[in-house]
Amino acid sequence: MNTNSKSIAFDVEKIRKDFPILSRKVNGYPLVYLDNAATSQKPQVVIDALVDYYSNYNANIHRGVHSLSQEATDAYEQAREKIRAHFNIKKTREVIFTAGTTHAINLVASGFRKILQKGDELIVSALEHHSNIVPWQMLCEETGAVLKVLPMNEQGELDLVEYINLLSNKTKLVFVNHISNALGTINPIEEIIEKAHKVGAAVLIDGAQACSHIKPDLQTLNADFYTCSAHKMCGPTGVGILYGKEGWLAKLPPYQGGGEMIKEVTFEKTTYAELPHKFEAGTPNIADGIAFGVALDYLNTIGFDAIANYENQLLEYATEKLLEIEGLKIYGTSAHKTSVISFNIKNIHPYDIGTILDKLGIAVRTGHHCAQPIMDFYNIPGTVRASFAFYNTFHEIDVLVEAIKKAKVMLT
Ligand SMILES: *Cc1c(COP(=O)(O)O)cnc(C)c1O
Repeated sequence: MNTNSKSIAFDVEKIRKDFPILSRKVNGYPLVYLDNAATSQKPQVVIDALVDYYSNYNANIHRGVHSLSQEATDAYEQAREKIRAHFNIKKTREVIFTAGTTHAINLVASGFRKILQKGDELIVSALEHHSNIVPWQMLCEETGAVLKVLPMNEQGELDLVEYINLLSNKTKLVFVNHISNALGTINPIEEIIEKAHKVGAAVLIDGAQACSHIKPDLQTLNADFYTCSAHKMCGPTGVGILYGKEGWLAKLPPYQGGGEMIKEVTFEKTTYAELPHKFEAGTPNIADGIAFGVALDYLNTIGFDAIANYENQLLEYATEKLLEIEGLKIYGTSAHKTSVISFNIKNIHPYDIGTILDKLGIAVRTGHHCAQPIMDFYNIPGTVRASFAFYNTFHEIDVLVEAIKKAKVMLT
């Protein structure tokens, strides 16, 4: 494969200049950042948006009559509108700002406390991040609902035959990630949603790992809830969204009480604000919300088709090169996967490999990746995970492969 012509066609070198952190050194070596599934790096435009807000129009929103407050409110609501358009969400009031995916899932799980009854069934997939498992376990403990597990196979794919068997008119909710952060599997969520709806169950899709790689069309997808975190999409930490169908959001009670989420408060009775504010108690994360909108603009300028195409080439190249290393095993081998590679080398603990790679300036993740059930499935303590973004290069993959070979020699 002629890697040079491909990387030049995408102009990754030009893109890399947008990310100041990518030119730093770590432990004396040029940084090779391959922990994008944990969080992405930030382009200068996003960093500038944060500085601009705090330097020029910092004010609390939605309540002030003064000009700064108006400017801040406009910018924040414009960001909500950008998010709505990006995901092709029908109504602006279906876009709830949250602190991120974890917060969004807890909000929904909490909302179902009064809706579920003893004996109701919920289906969780075997590929989930802990943030899409634990809130539901807490909900089941409180309500007496039962959590059923949709199993996976050796390739890291969900078993859709078993899914059909699990579904019944007792099923009230199904929750699955769009893309697995631990293995990279892209799940067949269209089919999962359609089958759940046939038995009257609602579906929450955890899009935290997907939204940096693909651009979901939420009206076509027809999920009842969809979540993501800005920090995995070149945006800041501490902000994300919950999309919910208006019917569901109207039905769920508020998650937190406070300012911003009320219509009228007396000591006898409080009435709640309209959507989306009903779920946005307190002063929101204004600067980061605005910068999230800027991150979406940035990603859309590059274009999600170009991103997916380039990342697929990186995935293919890295898979091929890594498999040339004797004793290396990749976990998650679905034909439908994104640029995440989880692997181990025979008889070597993932942590030891990660430590040596770090000494050489290479950032990878080691451990269970907040998905312990997947590690239990494979009967391993964890993996080394290299996850690629559109600003990574073929050269960085070569550097990774050479470093792993070196680590292997040192550790055996
Ligand atoms: C990162 C991630 C989460 C958690 O997101 P937070 O931003 O930490 O709330 C949940 N699910 C998946 C699939 C993820 O990749």
